[in-house]
Amino acid sequence: MGKGPTPGGVARYLRQRGELGGDRLFLSDLTREEVMELASSGKGRGRRAAKSALSGSEGSGVPAPISKDYEALKAEALACRRCVLAETRTKVVFSDGHPGARVMVVGEAPGAQEDKTGLAFVGPAGKLLDLLLASVGLSRSNTAYICNVLKCRPPGNRNPLPGEIQDCTPFLRRQIEVISPEVILAVGTFSGQFLTGESVPLGRLRGEVYSYQGVPLVVTYHPAALLRNPGWTRATWDDLQLLRKVMDGP
Ligand code: URA
Repeated sequence: MGKGPTPGGVARYLRQRGELGGDRLFLSDLTREEVMELASSGKGRGRRAAKSALSGSEGSGVPAPISKDYEALKAEALACRRCVLAETRTKVVFSDGHPGARVMVVGEAPGAQEDKTGLAFVGPAGKLLDLLLASVGLSRSNTAYICNVLKCRPPGNRNPLPGEIQDCTPFLRRQIEVISPEVILAVGTFSGQFLTGESVPLGRLRGEVYSYQGVPLVVTYHPAALLRNPGWTRATWDDLQLLRKVMDGP
């Protein structure tokens, strides 16, 4: 990409990459500020009900966070010591983006840079996420809210353990209620399976619109996986178009 591309340019770039099969994305050449600048420079199908683990009662024996107030919920999460991840984390990663956003993006768990900064998706995967969002006119500065299923980094980025998921997910559940987004975008297998309640590979989860407690839910590849597998760009592009279609209505 040359200097100062427009959102239309970003969209074309991603589309062409998808069509050509694409090679690697060189986002490391861009700073986070440059990506943010790019991302902010411009501004269905039938729904399948999600069988989500979140959609029923809490069911974990862990009391749900009581607060329905956004700032109080955040404060509660930042002070959380419900599971062992509290021993190893640097910072709790509650979110990034705009709490009044139309779209809520849900990833898996913080990585090293998120753990350091306390902000969701600020590492290499976050840069690509910003570009993907920009391709459909969205940005974390005003139209996207970004968070994870787990709020603390598992050491060495290991897979989250069942008990950690059980202890942490009441925060996500309440976060979804409070943010009340128009649409949810689950990125990656973990988040997609968790929010839909379906234990199938991501390739079979994507391409559908689910309903998470009445909120349309679209599932796509995790940007980190996309960085490793550029051949998935076309499918991701299609999923983002589906997301946009849900937002724009019939
Ligand atoms: N991967 C995720 O799933 N979430 C983050 O916040 C960063 C990387």
